[in-house]
Amino acid sequence: MKILIAGFQHETNTFAPTKASYQSFIQGEGFPALTRGVDVLTLRDVNVPIGGFIKAAQASGHELIPVIWAGASASAHVTEDAYERIAGEIVAAVRAGGFDAIYLDLHGAMVAEHIDDGEGELLARVREIVGDAMPLVVSLDLHANVTQKMLKLASAIVAYRTYPHVDMAETGERAAVLLDRLHHDERALKCVARRVPFLIPVNAMCTLVEPARGMYDMLASLEQGPVVSVSFAPGFPAADFPECGPMVWAHGYDEDALAHAVDALAARMLAAESQWDVRFLSPDEAVAEAVRAGQRASKPVIIADTQDNPGVGGDSNTMGMVRALLRNHAQHAAVGVIWDAGAAAAAHRAGVGARIELALAGGSGVPGDEPLVGVFEVEHLSDGRFRFDGPMMNGMQADLGPVACLRIGGVRIVVSTVKMQIFERNFFRVAGIEPEQMKILVVKSSVHFRADFQPAAQAILVAKAPGPMAADPADLPWRRLDPQIRVRPTGPSFSEWRRHSAQAAADQLQ
Ligand SMILES: [Zn+2]
Repeated sequence: MKILIAGFQHETNTFAPTKASYQSFIQGEGFPALTRGVDVLTLRDVNVPIGGFIKAAQASGHELIPVIWAGASASAHVTEDAYERIAGEIVAAVRAGGFDAIYLDLHGAMVAEHIDDGEGELLARVREIVGDAMPLVVSLDLHANVTQKMLKLASAIVAYRTYPHVDMAETGERAAVLLDRLHHDERALKCVARRVPFLIPVNAMCTLVEPARGMYDMLASLEQGPVVSVSFAPGFPAADFPECGPMVWAHGYDEDALAHAVDALAARMLAAESQWDVRFLSPDEAVAEAVRAGQRASKPVIIADTQDNPGVGGDSNTMGMVRALLRNHAQHAAVGVIWDAGAAAAAHRAGVGARIELALAGGSGVPGDEPLVGVFEVEHLSDGRFRFDGPMMNGMQADLGPVACLRIGGVRIVVSTVKMQIFERNFFRVAGIEPEQMKILVVKSSVHFRADFQPAAQAILVAKAPGPMAADPADLPWRRLDPQIRVRPTGPSFSEWRRHSAQAAADQLQ
């Protein structure tokens, strides 16, 4: 086969402060930087879906026609300009023809300024050119808000089964296997899907623990006989449009068997609904618990500052957790990563050993967050470049721009020039901090950090410091959800919730 391949990934938090511009995709912001043409094939050895797809498809002897790969950090909407330029390149290559099949490496939760369902719209534009018969396989992130349009237009869709996403390349390989099947077998794959009627906090989606782990074990066991592929996307609960939410779906040859598989999964979700809720701590509670646990621990206690995770649309610059550490006189604590290019530059001008007065970060505009004004000691400086050694993004080069370790009281802070989620311990090491020597590590991440940090952690706590990403979806100012979907596990439906918030607002006016 000649297979046209392209990638376009963005996870859109429609409530987040900053949009994704074309420049965001050029940089990649934690993803590989934008590549096009034959350069896309250099992603072969990177743990991204298209990497796994390239390897598997080449091993099967297929010829690849690479178009473009573009991804950017999670944020508010993709600008119309960025969407049209990148989708436009993919559509232009499709129009040029000369291939037998298509593979697209997409996220599944992309909202553009002018389009709710970024992936569905791209698939519609592609299908309009190639017709219904051409095999078109898509891989998606586990955080996809899968829409009816996507399921109808793709020949088959697969999604990651791990969070932290350590199986990105593997998901690309599974897409290649499905494309092979579509090529060799005349029959089209049928699809049956079920929507799960409640939003899930991202912290509850971690597949290292229950209930998510059991869901994916069950899903794999259902793939047999005429049921070729089963997927579950718990969704991205910060995209304000009617199809936001979890979805289970299956592809195969027998509709009854497919329905049986997805109904079994949906029933399991409903039976264990309360288990998908999360225990969140206040910043002070989290620090107090970490100090207590740290007294008899040989490993650091980790606090996830989840509401400012740049992987879900934060800017990695809120200061609530740093304040809580200082307020509680925490010692041997380190925070990573605070994004403040101005502070990093000031530290580099001043040099190691200098003491500088700064108003550090805190520019999120979120109520309760403000810059931390104080005198900081510059403990370490670096160019911010390192190689990812952890399970995620393994082998990729990271570039945080000039990095500084700033110390205030018992707290060391990694300050970067480029915004990036802290995926692994090297983000501390690049600032001269040995994470294993610390008592408390605060990470601006929800779940991804667990892939590398969990084995090195005494305990992991999740704190709700003021930040732009509400960890509890019921805290977000929703306007356009499906009226029936519950805004949190076992919570009220959107229509009930909206009546309550309208009532609460009216009460406040009186
Ligand atoms: Zn994801």
